[in-house]
Amino acid sequence: MQTFLSKMKQEWTTLISHTDARVMTLSQILATNNAAGMSKRFYDTVLTDPQAEEFLTNEQVERHLKRALERWLAEVLSGTADSVDKLIVMQQHVGEMHARIGIPVQVVEMGARVLKKLLSPLIDKMECSAEDKFKLLNFTTGSIDIAMEVMSRAFSFSENQSSREDENYRVYSLLENAEEEKEKQISSLLSWEIDIVYKILLDSEVCNIQSFSRSEFGLWFNHKGRHYFSGLTGVGYISKLMLELDELIHSIKSETASASKRQKLISYVLQIRTCLSQITTLLRDLFDDVSRHEIGMDVLTRLLNRRFLPTIFKREITHANRVGTPLSVLIIDIDYFKEINDGHGHNTGDELLRKVSQAFYDSVRSSDYVFRYGGDEFLIVLTEASEQETLRMAERIRNRVEKQTVITPDGNKLSVSLSIGVAMFSGHPDYERLIQSADEALYRAKSLGRNRVELWEPKKDTHE
Ligand code: GH3
Ligand code: MG
Repeated sequence: MQTFLSKMKQEWTTLISHTDARVMTLSQILATNNAAGMSKRFYDTVLTDPQAEEFLTNEQVERHLKRALERWLAEVLSGTADSVDKLIVMQQHVGEMHARIGIPVQVVEMGARVLKKLLSPLIDKMECSAEDKFKLLNFTTGSIDIAMEVMSRAFSFSENQSSREDENYRVYSLLENAEEEKEKQISSLLSWEIDIVYKILLDSEVCNIQSFSRSEFGLWFNHKGRHYFSGLTGVGYISKLMLELDELIHSIKSETASASKRQKLISYVLQIRTCLSQITTLLRDLFDDVSRHEIGMDVLTRLLNRRFLPTIFKREITHANRVGTPLSVLIIDIDYFKEINDGHGHNTGDELLRKVSQAFYDSVRSSDYVFRYGGDEFLIVLTEASEQETLRMAERIRNRVEKQTVITPDGNKLSVSLSIGVAMFSGHPDYERLIQSADEALYRAKSLGRNRVELWEPKKDTHE
């Protein structure tokens, strides 16, 4: 990514240095006079596309994005040698934001085409020579192309990362019931074994014995287990043992009547026993190896790791927008936590973090999500809770924790208070906005004296 960015920076700098100062001034004038109009016409055009409509019809979004595009145009078309660094960073941010919202890349590409199409008639109307018009078109479309390329690259980079986390979260959810899954698979190994032994013993239906890879365990392992544990060495060993078992089954089935048949069958059964007991041991180890933190649980608090925020938010925002249900966020920070660490030691601090986390977990419903957001900071996503319910929940959490105590090494009782920032989802698909709002509310709770809940309210005097 870094090499790509420096290459793009170089290209943008070259484009600027090869453009006359006069043309750059014309480009700035063009941007100042037309950014708002272009943005409006851009959305009028783009919204006729059904794929784009799905993302852009929300009134809030339209308002925000129109202004954002206006600013974007003004900046990109007024690029100077000094602003290239800033412009590159800006494109990265926009690309990442598109990825967070989940705008399909083809919608963004269509947008670029629409913008460039809007430019020609505007340039035509400019009062300058034909040669300058040509250079101006070259400069403006060149700037948009470079900006778009950086944006697209940041978009795919972000998308790749987030699909990896989506996948991790899927595995994490599946393994939430790991203990149950482990026992289920071990018992299915045992059933398969008993079935085989009976068939051999009674010498009945031997030809109908199922191969191991078609058994319930075999299917589970090939379709799911292999995937859950991918990268761990046990997976390879189990696969090898599964092949061995299939070969043994094949030999059993092809055994013809002979004096030594019984002896051979006994030896096969013993080999099956060895393979299965090895698989069982390996399977137990695999389940133990995939300790929860590796797949996304915070080790200390056993809450969700913040890297799952994008996965959860994308899913919940899509749901809230589609169904129209409320969605809210609490950002919680422990008050004066540093003093606790300093005064009573890190272990007491850790114990408090664990206790407080447990209180969060016990307070929310099973459809809500509790994340460890930072050191002593937590983020809770509440699903389908109205503003009133959200505030009630926040207050309940604050109250509950305030009453909790831990015993310090010198035997004293210690308690903490919480400051909580609350924000309600407003329809804007970029979850960063929601987090930022809750963060601002938290900041207010801190500055108003801590140990309190504050709700984010939109500022009345701005459109942001
Ligand atoms: P404020 O009321 O402004 O939040 O004051 P504060 O002292 O809580 O300040 P801040 O939130 O910035 O301090 C966070 C502290 O949390 C700093 C760090 O020592 C501590 N911390 C972060 N992670 C851990 C952890 O895993 N265990 C322990 N024991 N302490 C941690
Ligand atoms: Mg704190």
